[in-house]
Amino acid sequence: MFYGDTVAAIATSSGDGSISVIRVSGDRSVEYVSRVFFDKKGKNIDLKSFETHTVHYGFIRNFENELLDEVLVLLMRAPRSYTAEDVVEIHCHGGHMICQLILECLNRAGVRIAEPGEFTKRAFLNGRIDLSQAEAVMDVIQSKSKISLENSLTQLKGSVRKKIVELREILLEDTAYLEAALDDPEHISLDGFSDRLGKHVFNLQREVNHLLENSQNGRIIRDGIYTVIVGRPNVGKSSLLNCILREERAIVTDIPGTTRDTLEEDIKIGSVLLRLIDTAGIRDSDDKVEKIGINKAKESIERADFIICMIDSTEELTEEDFYVMEEIADRNGVILLNKCDRQDGNIAMDPDMFSERCKKAKSEEWVSHILSDKKIFCFSAKTSEGLEELEQYLKDQFLREQISYHDDIYITNARQQECLADTAESLAQLMQSIEDGMPEDLYAIDLCNAYEALGKIIGETVEEDIIDKIFKDFCMGK
Ligand code: GDP
Repeated sequence: MFYGDTVAAIATSSGDGSISVIRVSGDRSVEYVSRVFFDKKGKNIDLKSFETHTVHYGFIRNFENELLDEVLVLLMRAPRSYTAEDVVEIHCHGGHMICQLILECLNRAGVRIAEPGEFTKRAFLNGRIDLSQAEAVMDVIQSKSKISLENSLTQLKGSVRKKIVELREILLEDTAYLEAALDDPEHISLDGFSDRLGKHVFNLQREVNHLLENSQNGRIIRDGIYTVIVGRPNVGKSSLLNCILREERAIVTDIPGTTRDTLEEDIKIGSVLLRLIDTAGIRDSDDKVEKIGINKAKESIERADFIICMIDSTEELTEEDFYVMEEIADRNGVILLNKCDRQDGNIAMDPDMFSERCKKAKSEEWVSHILSDKKIFCFSAKTSEGLEELEQYLKDQFLREQISYHDDIYITNARQQECLADTAESLAQLMQSIEDGMPEDLYAIDLCNAYEALGKIIGETVEEDIIDKIFKDFCMGK
C-alpha cells in the first residue's frame, strides 16, 4: 500500500452546476472531514463510527463556525474506493465560490490540495488499476464518440492488462527456464530449447503485430476518420461541410479560391466520428496566400483516411478536375457529382455521363486507372440529396471492419503503441538470433527487453518521471 498524505480536490467540472463534488482521499480523510461537518443543531458529526459506503446529511462550517453549505457526505473506506484509500466525498451545491470555500476550510483542517490526476495516480500506486487502465480513465473522459467510449471502457475494465500479462507470462517462463539451464547445465538441458522458444516467439510476434495493426484502427476509433474534402474552387466543398454539419460554419461564396486555409470539424455519423477537413482548392495559383492553402491541402490528402472529391456536375470538366482526381488515385474515397439539384443551364451529369466525359477528355486507360476503385454518386450540398448514401458508404467502409472490436483489443494510446513497437523489435531480434543459431545465453537480453517493453504498457517497469508525466496531463480532481 502506498501511504501518502490526505488530499482533496473538486472532482466535478468547473463552472456553475446544480451540485459539485469535493473528493478527499487518504488515511486521515475521515478525521479531517469530521472536523468541519455538523448537524442541523450545530453539533459536530464524527464520521469515524459510520459504516463504509454510507451517505450522511449535514452542514459544513468553517473554523469561525460560519455556515458554508448544506451537504451530503459519502463515506468509502479503503480498499473499496476509487483510490483504494479512505475516501470521503462532499456533495455540495454547485458553484465555484462554495467549492473554493469548502476546499480552503478542508485545507485548514489538514488536507493538502491534490495535484491534477493525483487520485488516479494513487489508484495506480495502490495497485487497484494498472497504467493502461489509468490512461483509459483519461480516454473515457475525453471520448468524443460512442465507439471511442466503449473501447476506453473495455480498457478500463482491464482488457489490455489481461492480454499483456498473458504475453509476459510466456516470456517469463522461457526466461526462467533459460536462466536455470545456464546456471545448472548438468541438470537442466537446453536440448531442443531453441526450437521451442522459436515457436513461442513466432506466436508472440503474431499477437504483438496484430495488436499493432489494430492500433491503427484504434486511432480511428479515438480520433475519428480523417476525411478530406477536395475539389477545384467553387464546386461546393464548403457547402458540403455545412450540409453535413447542418449549420453555417465555413464561408460559402461565389468567388473562386475563398477557402484559403483548411477548416477542421469533428462530426458524428451514427456512432463513428468524422474529422472533416475542408481544403483550399488544389490548382495552380500565383497568389502567395492561396499557395500556402494548396500545400496544406496536399498535406491533408497525404494523411487522410478517406477523401471526398467534389465535381461540379453542372459544368464542363476541366483540367483542374482531372488533376484533383489524379491526386487521389488509389486512395480510399468517393466522387460526388455536386449540384444535381440545379435545373438552370447545363443538365447535371449522372455517373455514367461523367465516366463518358472523362473517357472522351482523357482516355479509357485513364478512367480505368483513376476511377475504377471509386464510388461515384449524384449529390446536392443544397438539398442534402445523397447525404444518406455518403453516410452509409462511410459506415460500410469503416464500421464493417470494426464490428468485431468488442472481442478485440484496440490500443489507442500513443505511449502504449510505442511500447508495443519496442516489443516487436526485441522479438524480431530474438527470432533472428534463433534462426542464426546463436548461443542460447544471447537470447536472454532480447527476452528481457521484450518482457520489459510489455511491462511498460501496464506500468510495471516504468520510471517514476514517466509516471509523473502521464498523470500531469490529467484534469484536476481526477
Ligand atoms: P467551394 O469553393 O468548393 O468551397 O464552393 P462553395 O461551397 O463556396 O460553393 C460555391 C457556390 O456553389 C456557392 O454559391 C454555393 O451556394 C453553390 N453550391 C454549392 N453546392 C451547391 C449545390 O449542391 N447546389 C447548388 N444549386 N448550388 C451549390
